[in-house]
Amino acid sequence: MKTLIKNVRIIDGTGAPWLRGHVLVEGEKIKSILHQEVEAERVIDGKERFLVPGFIDIHTHGDRGILKFPRAENYLRQGVTTLIGGNCGGSEFPIAPHLKEVEDSGISLNYGILIGHGSLRRQIMGMEMRHPSPSELEKMEELLAENLKAGALGLSLGLYYVPGSFAKTEEVVALAKVVAAHGGFVSIHMRDESDYNIGLLQSIEEALKIARLAQVPVQISHLKCLGASVWHQASEALALLDQAREEGLEISFDQYPYPASSTSLNGALLPPWAQAGGEEALAERFKNAGTREKIKAEVAANMKRRGGPKSLVIANSLAFPQLKGKNIEEVAALWQEDLLETTMKLLASGYVQIISFNMTEEDIHQIMQHPLGMVGSDGSLVEFGLGQPHPRYYGTFPRVLAKYVKEGVLPLSEAIRRMTSAPANRLGQYDRGLIRPGFWADLVLLDLDKVDDRADFDNPHAYPQGIDLVMVNGQIALNQGQLQDQKVGMILKS
Ligand SMILES: [Zn+2]
Repeated sequence: MKTLIKNVRIIDGTGAPWLRGHVLVEGEKIKSILHQEVEAERVIDGKERFLVPGFIDIHTHGDRGILKFPRAENYLRQGVTTLIGGNCGGSEFPIAPHLKEVEDSGISLNYGILIGHGSLRRQIMGMEMRHPSPSELEKMEELLAENLKAGALGLSLGLYYVPGSFAKTEEVVALAKVVAAHGGFVSIHMRDESDYNIGLLQSIEEALKIARLAQVPVQISHLKCLGASVWHQASEALALLDQAREEGLEISFDQYPYPASSTSLNGALLPPWAQAGGEEALAERFKNAGTREKIKAEVAANMKRRGGPKSLVIANSLAFPQLKGKNIEEVAALWQEDLLETTMKLLASGYVQIISFNMTEEDIHQIMQHPLGMVGSDGSLVEFGLGQPHPRYYGTFPRVLAKYVKEGVLPLSEAIRRMTSAPANRLGQYDRGLIRPGFWADLVLLDLDKVDDRADFDNPHAYPQGIDLVMVNGQIALNQGQLQDQKVGMILKS
């Protein structure tokens, strides 16, 4: 089957400015870029809109929902044609049966996965706060190698979260060497994006050390300056990355275009030592008066770091679903309790997802303008209307275009490069991410005047506008707002 997408302004994904022409797709691949129309079974008139490569989201947690939501609607509607899951140290494990299951059930876009270091560590050491013994480390290395051979694209670290935070640099360097031997990369949710423990800049140094000692490409995840104490450190952080490139380290990063982050309340406020040993051990420490006071003091300090109780908004609470959308100050007023006691009660109640306002636009701009960056949502697959997710789940890619390109923070073709060829190269998918003859036909027809991310913190469940057509592997997956129920996505392996 031949499809001609005619009368388009082609942005090829290299960062070069657009050129006018027609793109012929044959089967699953791009056949040619033409300056004269040719016959085709299917002709789509682009009407001078932009045709760009499909977006590649290198940083997601899509592995959590891919089997439940194989249509991946909140991503496909953003123009995302490839989704990479397993970030921040947490992934499905082992990956071989997971990938098999996804392949068998079928998906609407391309999908690949990283192995989470936390998930790997749990297999061998549970939630214990200690170093691995030599034999435990050896077992982790073996398991990692097995999963890389099964097609994982790399290893993800969550050095801030338990149990990843229990690992010293040496442990992850040993594992990163296994990744280097298999040709993957290491994505790093850093030990500290704020001043919780070693600080933002020291955490970047740690990431660079891993790249240096293991000789492995490193992708820093969702680079940001989190919290007032590290605001305006973006230029220093980026200078460290420039120096690393000078030194010969293959370092890059991704970013989501929002001033608020999203995580669990535990992750934001609880010290790692309190979480050692898992949920039961945590419950014990809440009961014990001595440890409770100690936790409370650290929670108070962390809350301040995060901008205070007003800056923390509950997205989801298993125990108190009615609190959705309320900040902690509002919850305290509702419960007629002291702020800190309210927080402790929430922390003891089980899983609470929060949205945390903690960044400045200045830092966001600087990070977005740096050439080593990519766009990554850090989102997941969700059911429309359910819960209060971060709007990045629905709007990341359109928002970069609708807000930051239109405001002049970065040029259109550069924004597209950060969404396409840059992540394709990082992932070693050298036949995706560009509009080139012979490349997979992952394409997006974009109406730049109409593009609008729509989803916001109050109403996150909103699909974007202006993403008019999405093609995945040569098949139309979305056309004028209509999802074509085709499971044309492929599993991408290393
Ligand atoms: Zn993360």
